[in-house]
Amino acid sequence: MPLTNVRPTAELQALDAAHHMHPFTDQSSLAKKGARIIVRGEGSWLTDSEGERILDGMSGLWCVNVGYGRERLVQAADRQMRELPYYNTFFQTTHIPAIDLAAKLAEICPGDLNHVFFAGSGSEANDTNLRMVRHYWALKGKPSKSWIISRKNGYHGSSVGSGSMGGMAGIHAQGGLPIPGIRHIDQPYWYLEGGDASPEDFGRARARQLETAIDEIGEDNVAAFIAEPIQGAGGVIIPPENYWPEIQRICDEREILLICDEVITGFGRTGHWFGHQAIGARPDIITIAKGLSSGYLPIGGSVVSDEVAEVIGSDEFNHGYTYSGHPVAAAVALENLAIIEEEKLVQRVHDDVGPYIREKWLSLVDHPLVGEATIVGLMGSIALTPHKPSRARFASEAGTVGYICREFSFGNNLIMRHVYDRMIIAPPLVITREEIDILIERVWKTLDQTHARLK
Ligand code: PLP
Repeated sequence: MPLTNVRPTAELQALDAAHHMHPFTDQSSLAKKGARIIVRGEGSWLTDSEGERILDGMSGLWCVNVGYGRERLVQAADRQMRELPYYNTFFQTTHIPAIDLAAKLAEICPGDLNHVFFAGSGSEANDTNLRMVRHYWALKGKPSKSWIISRKNGYHGSSVGSGSMGGMAGIHAQGGLPIPGIRHIDQPYWYLEGGDASPEDFGRARARQLETAIDEIGEDNVAAFIAEPIQGAGGVIIPPENYWPEIQRICDEREILLICDEVITGFGRTGHWFGHQAIGARPDIITIAKGLSSGYLPIGGSVVSDEVAEVIGSDEFNHGYTYSGHPVAAAVALENLAIIEEEKLVQRVHDDVGPYIREKWLSLVDHPLVGEATIVGLMGSIALTPHKPSRARFASEAGTVGYICREFSFGNNLIMRHVYDRMIIAPPLVITREEIDILIERVWKTLDQTHARLK
């Protein structure tokens, strides 16, 4: 297909730098360098304004699970826009896409996660969760149960509520976050924080911080614990195997709700429909977004248990968004779920491309710069280190080497992201074995270039 946009890249970059404020971006460096302008996507590939084809190792922002260029999703949006482009779900009205999507989610979510409160994004959904769990306990006659326990370096969004629950130092450094009533415990990041402890001892100790925090705050004051089954934006950090069983034990023994943030780990990313199935947790609430619509339209939500829904439903919940359950986004999400089911993409990750990439990805640990390689399904990471045996960090400011590596990767037409000195991938679930070979080849080349630069 010929490019539809023939305007010069430099002209677009100048306009972009002059008027467009980018999220999570140093705007002044952008003005000097110019953003890369992506103009098209097909399968696992992007095309930029210079006609370069780039392998998208990150599925956009971990969201384009079914890949780019899906005509069925275009048709679903087209049909729904003609039929009913907008109506709300406030004040005792509803519409067919929201009904069908909620019912479909109840079918695919395990256990008694049968009720959906829709939002426009993951951040909004987590803001819903914050208010919902507090309201839940108030309705149960325990209004003091309002504290949320979450984790350092966890990510739950960047709105005031979700950014406060998340444990990102960079977010907390700006704008007066976190809000009161949130306690952050340490993350289960054995590679960088485990020291001489075995992964098992470390996993147990980190999980037990939840118990300690509950004791300190008082069980009567804690509403919920929120965590990603596998930390994504924090660097694809896969916890020691005993971590989640221990967390689940504590949640079972204490009177608190468990919220699993499945915004990244949902919809097949880990080789299961949801990440909590991969780690054996039983949440009361899950947060969904991203892969729900494969990012074709913005939509998110909170899927809650029968019990939580019953309590919340006993009173009017004074909360909602204009775009809660937006009909076009819901229609696209439904079609997206149909594609995931019909093409058996979850099984594909579990049985086919997941094991295929796993073997190759884990062998990256043979590279002199790589201290750890780890992957679950189609979310993986490698830790860059100057000294493998001690799992040392680089002496330069953490993240510089990761940034250099990311820049080489971009130059090699592979989108791989860095979190400090950790490199991460999360390609579309439709990536083929041939494309995985290309991805791995480009990662090796990128690591060699980074290594050569450091000498
Ligand atoms: N929760 C998790 C685990 C995420 O990774 C993200 C985004 O990356 C969010 C929530 C926030 O979602 P959104 O950017 O749609 O607000």
